[in-house]
Order: sequence, then structure tokens, then C-alpha cells
Amino acid sequence: MSAEGVGFPRAEPPAPPLVLIIEDNPKNLKLTRDLLRVHAYRTLEAEDAPEGVQLAHIHRPDVIVVDIQLPTLDGYEVTRLLKADERTRDIPVLGVTSFAMSGEEARAFEAGCDAYLSKPIDIHRFVRTVQEALRRKESR
Ligand code: MN
Repeated sequence: MSAEGVGFPRAEPPAPPLVLIIEDNPKNLKLTRDLLRVHAYRTLEAEDAPEGVQLAHIHRPDVIVVDIQLPTLDGYEVTRLLKADERTRDIPVLGVTSFAMSGEEARAFEAGCDAYLSKPIDIHRFVRTVQEALRRKESR
């Protein structure tokens, strides 16, 4: 039996989560984008901090992946700006850094990052971390 015509509007499938990537290195940007798209996420991309913050305000992504080593404003400063603004403070921020120095993780959390990963990116861990950030956001 067909469900059509019973009076229920056909439900639109929910849009896949939107992830904003702020990354100035084209190779890293492509890797991150490809990984997320393979897992059916939608992506938005910014190559520097001002563009990233602007896109976050306009589109309210579900998760933000921010490279820590960015020109002008670094990823820590971007995270502080996002967390200081009520429009964006509830969006989980995943900081990614190529500095494997001790203290970087603490710095990331101090800046307000919800998660932190070092480069080179572990593909499975990256995707899992994005999924966990989304789950935590939904359960808030
Ligand atoms: Mn960079």
C-alpha cells in the first residue's frame, strides 16, 4: 500500500551537517574537504581567519575545523572570537595544528577549542572527532 494520499506531508530528509573548514594550505584543505564529503558532510571553506569568521556568522555551520597556523589571526584567536560571540559560541570548534609541541593542546582548550588534533591528520580519528563533536552538540 502506498503511503501517498494519506494526508501526511512527505518529510524532507534532514540536510547533512555543515562543516566549515578554515585552512590556508590548499593541500590540507582538499584533504579535509574530501574526507568530510566522503562521509556525506556538506562543507564550506575559508582560507583565512576573517573570511572564516564571516562565513561562520552567515551560515552557522554545525562544526568548525580550524587550522591553528593561519596568517594574520591564528586559529587560537579565531576560536576566541567565535566563542566570544553568542551567534557562534555553541558551534563545536576542532583545532588542527602542525606543531607537535607540548602545551599546544592546553593552549587549544584554553582558547575554547572543543577538540584538538595534530597533523598529519589521522583520517579515522579526524572523522570520529567530527562525529563526536556533532553528537555532543545535538545532546546539549
Ligand atoms: Mn596553515
